[in-house]
Amino acid sequence: MDQLGSIVGKPGPHLSLLENGKREPKLSLIADLANALDTTIAALVSGEAPSARARLEIALERMQTDPAYRRLQLPHLKPSTSLPDTALEHLVALFEEVKRVSSIRAATPEEARAANAALREDMKARGNYFNEIEALARDALDRVGYTGGVVHEGALGDIAALYGFGVHRVPDVPVSVRSVTDMKNRRIYIRQRDALSAMAARPVVMQTIGHFALGHEDPVDFADYLRQRVEANYFAGAILMPEAAAVPMLLAAKAARDVSVEDLQEQFFVSYEMAGHRLTNLATEHLDLPTHFVRSDDQGVIWKAYENNDVPFPTDVDGAIEGQRLCREWGTRQAFRSEDKFSIHYQYTDTSSGTFWCGTHVEAGRSPLSAVTVGARFEEAKYFRGRQTDRHSVSLCPDGECCRRPNTEVAARWDGQVWPSPRIQSHVLAALPVGTFPGVDLPEIYEFLDGQTT
Ligand SMILES: [Zn+2]
Repeated sequence: MDQLGSIVGKPGPHLSLLENGKREPKLSLIADLANALDTTIAALVSGEAPSARARLEIALERMQTDPAYRRLQLPHLKPSTSLPDTALEHLVALFEEVKRVSSIRAATPEEARAANAALREDMKARGNYFNEIEALARDALDRVGYTGGVVHEGALGDIAALYGFGVHRVPDVPVSVRSVTDMKNRRIYIRQRDALSAMAARPVVMQTIGHFALGHEDPVDFADYLRQRVEANYFAGAILMPEAAAVPMLLAAKAARDVSVEDLQEQFFVSYEMAGHRLTNLATEHLDLPTHFVRSDDQGVIWKAYENNDVPFPTDVDGAIEGQRLCREWGTRQAFRSEDKFSIHYQYTDTSSGTFWCGTHVEAGRSPLSAVTVGARFEEAKYFRGRQTDRHSVSLCPDGECCRRPNTEVAARWDGQVWPSPRIQSHVLAALPVGTFPGVDLPEIYEFLDGQTT
């Protein structure tokens, strides 16, 4: 270093700062260095390792700064000439494999469930309201001149453009995805064939934009991945059902004792699920109404849930709710049995935590069928549409005879005579992979992008 320094007229420690990336050199110095080292400027500034050996040496240095490596408390290994290429290659490959395996283990079902439970606690504490995301959405809407009512396609395109993205509607995208984002050319492709797919595409585009608006980086772990997904969904809801337009409408509905998910859905051209979720964002903050929200499949298995009114969701030992089965007496499950299952099913349910009112909508055209419930405590039911229902159930879960234990007489007849073969609950596992894109056919996505003419 000192030798080289004397040739280019700089002290050795200065070159050391350059080498470690702590100082940026002037172009004239790079030229002098290239000259002194008998190489080219291009070779000096190239990000590529100059040789296979150098690539391995750099990998060895990086690996030794990794926290997982440091925990081993080994002395620093210098890639001196006495360390043969093959040994270096083995060390680097082994460590890469250790990293890969430990990142898989990081997303065990236990960890995923604990992350879900922690996130739900946080959402409960804040009444499902994210002030900073509302502010971000409000700012984006202001910048595109939104003045009220439904947020039109043009405004959504303008919001995407704020973040440098263009929205491209194509008749088909690969079957495994709802949209594809080409990061290189900053294009979002969405499938649009009819009014229904047009409606479904709106939140997808805004979720994608949400990740950029919120400055999300690659998730560091499963909890981070979940949080990013929740925030991006929240951003989409806050754009499509702007607080400034939705809150006055909800306040008027509360005064008229007619709060409903359907009105939000119709007013803002969104799905029932999205409208229901948005209602829970705004209900506690603006209407002073604690609520609960749950989406389950036709077996009563929970996919998504939120509450800040102490409704007794079934939980596992880690406090996780996803993948648990709802009591058969609850509205979400009763709705599937109702004569007209696609209209909204209202009911009151007595539980171990008191009486709750809820409204459940079974969404047609989904496979498996899925039900979305929004509910409130009995005391607050008076503000909601559907409060006059005379349907009433009693749920004795988790301790009673309604679900967990079969009727004794029937049990006596069948005890020991049954071998059920359960359907695999793939959704519980599907939530796991991190860093990649679960369930997405990547080769097909690349082919699709290649096929888009510019
Ligand atoms: Zn039950």
